[in-house]
Amino acid sequence: MNAQHIGNIFIISAASGTGKTTLVSRLTHHYDTIRVAVSHTTRPPREGEQHGKQYYFVSPEKFMQLVGDGVFLEHAQVFGNYYGTSMLEVRELINKGVDVILEIDVQGATQIRQALPNAISIFILPPSLAVLEERLRKRKTDSEDVIVRRLNEARHEIQQAIEFDYIVVNNDLVETENHLLSIIRSQRFRQPLQMETIEKILKNQ
Ligand code: 5GP
Repeated sequence: MNAQHIGNIFIISAASGTGKTTLVSRLTHHYDTIRVAVSHTTRPPREGEQHGKQYYFVSPEKFMQLVGDGVFLEHAQVFGNYYGTSMLEVRELINKGVDVILEIDVQGATQIRQALPNAISIFILPPSLAVLEERLRKRKTDSEDVIVRRLNEARHEIQQAIEFDYIVVNNDLVETENHLLSIIRSQRFRQPLQMETIEKILKNQ
């Protein structure tokens, strides 16, 4: 990676149960040039989650104050809780030259696309709705009515996949991780980022 470049920003969205969180943590675990921006949320921490690691956990009052202060690049209400991406967090990471993943919902993706037209968006699809239902049931984290709600929400979110730059079906975790890595790596070779390389060669440096 060329350290003088700032990193690229990738939006990764998917219906819940598609494997998005697992895929993103595999990528950041395997490649230290890929990082995920930690979001703020008003959702209470789940078992094992730590403040500053999975999320910055804040009260609804604090969240609204941050919204008012213009801290967020985007924010949205998802399943009754607020989530937001901090501008500072993203800026600090891209300035280090790392590629930054925003693991956010489709509402947030729409907002980011408007705020940051150069962000690259990826939507991860489940192999089928039947497989998604099976995965949600296997997780055993949700009650029946929450599963039904998540499946309805999934249909709605999947309809919005056409708004994304890349669409990847998660048939197999390892294979999908490789597909995501290819997309992330390939952006480094986009022509605008290579202007300096061309100039150097022409100057015979
Ligand atoms: P969970 O509470 O299960 O961690 O996340 C619920 C949903 O909120 C997921 O679709 C996740 O991608 C989304 N989400 C997490 N952080 C953000 C964020 O900063 N902004 C938006 N818009 N969605 C987020």
